Amino acid sequence: MSHVLIIGAGGVGSVVVHKCAQIPEVFTRITLASRTVAKCEAIAQSVKARTGVQVAVEQVDADNVAETVALIKRLKPDLLLNVALPYQDLPLMDACLETGVDYLDTANYEPPDVAKFEYKWQWAYRERFEKAGIMALLGSGFDPGVTNVYCAWAQKHHFDEIHTLDIIDCNAGDHGQAFATNFNPEINIREITQRGRYWEHGEWVETDPLSWSMSYDFPEGIGPKKCYLMYHEELESLVRNIRGLKRARFWMTFSEQYLTHLRVLENVGMTRIDPIKYQGTEIAPIQFLKAVLPEPASLGPLTKGRTCIGCVLRGIKDGKEKQLYIYNICSHEEAFREVGSQAISYTTGVPAMIGAKMMLQGLWKQPGVWNMEEFDPDPFMADLNTYGLPWTVVEL
Ligand code: NDP
Repeated sequence: MSHVLIIGAGGVGSVVVHKCAQIPEVFTRITLASRTVAKCEAIAQSVKARTGVQVAVEQVDADNVAETVALIKRLKPDLLLNVALPYQDLPLMDACLETGVDYLDTANYEPPDVAKFEYKWQWAYRERFEKAGIMALLGSGFDPGVTNVYCAWAQKHHFDEIHTLDIIDCNAGDHGQAFATNFNPEINIREITQRGRYWEHGEWVETDPLSWSMSYDFPEGIGPKKCYLMYHEELESLVRNIRGLKRARFWMTFSEQYLTHLRVLENVGMTRIDPIKYQGTEIAPIQFLKAVLPEPASLGPLTKGRTCIGCVLRGIKDGKEKQLYIYNICSHEEAFREVGSQAISYTTGVPAMIGAKMMLQGLWKQPGVWNMEEFDPDPFMADLNTYGLPWTVVEL
């Protein structure tokens, strides 16, 4: 018997709820709470129609710790699964500490007034979580998330030392919109407009935003695509936890059309995160931009094509050089058929459900604050194959 309280009724939240409902033997009770309760109700209706499972809904402002604490005390969940926004990570961790409930999220905390991607704020909770005897699992999406587990699995089964890591995230899908982001536009644009950063010989090396690119020939008919070097949060924990790493980089594909729109929006100041005064009201231009862009959840029926996200790892096994590519390909249309969402939400929501399943089944269970690669990758890798994100490994 376990009760999961899911916070956030956006694109990812919808997938998590649908996937949890498919495994009633683990998730015996599901509550979905978010700022806008109508969105929770719409998701609950879709889940009921697809699976027959009844999902309870609640309204909560997750920035307000007292409100979340009151909700947790009333519902007594076994786990709080946070798929709201990164801004809510710390208030939700505070609420879990106060009520003694385990915590899981898919993205690291960001202060609203500065776009900084660092685990330091959440890692600072480690001792308090240990003392309270509760667990936090950080970054249980695809990247971070599955990419961390791929690295742990490669380290466990295929390498004595991993020397280089390239995480390559390709969205070869098309939603037909002039400009839209596949997950929350504010979080997405804050991330992409940052300076790039990779790790080499024990140091971080900075690059101008999206100034480095390469062409990568993706498998299974996707073909060559241009990928841009970016900083991505999983690099921070992987360089600590993967043995022998000399270089770690993250790459993402973008279309020319996307980059042109982004450049114009940046040049005219629409991606600014600092508030400006407009007709007597303070607004952050990026928040206004988010309000006029399509909601990620609305892209489900429009998006065609596939994603391909994976890790290229090079290292040593038994004294010999070895190179592996581990990847998943996910179809936007198939994800939409199954749960009514596009593949970006799907590839994040499925691992969030699996991370929760690992914790509730006691397979990953230890007080403290943890990143994904710190646990045994095998049961997670098995569940990826079972629950919709099968992986392929090839020796290059
Ligand atoms: P959406 O914007 O679609 O959804 C966010 C949801 O959180 C909305 O329902 C929103 O409510 C709710 N929310 C926001 N603020 C609050 C609050 N204060 N209290 C309660 N609810 C709140 O985002 P996505 O679903 O696309 O993304 C969800 C998370 O997943 C993000 O943190 C994102 O960074 C992460 N992510 C991780 C990935 C990975 O691979 N690791 C990949 C993609 C996303 P409302 O509807 O009222 O605005």
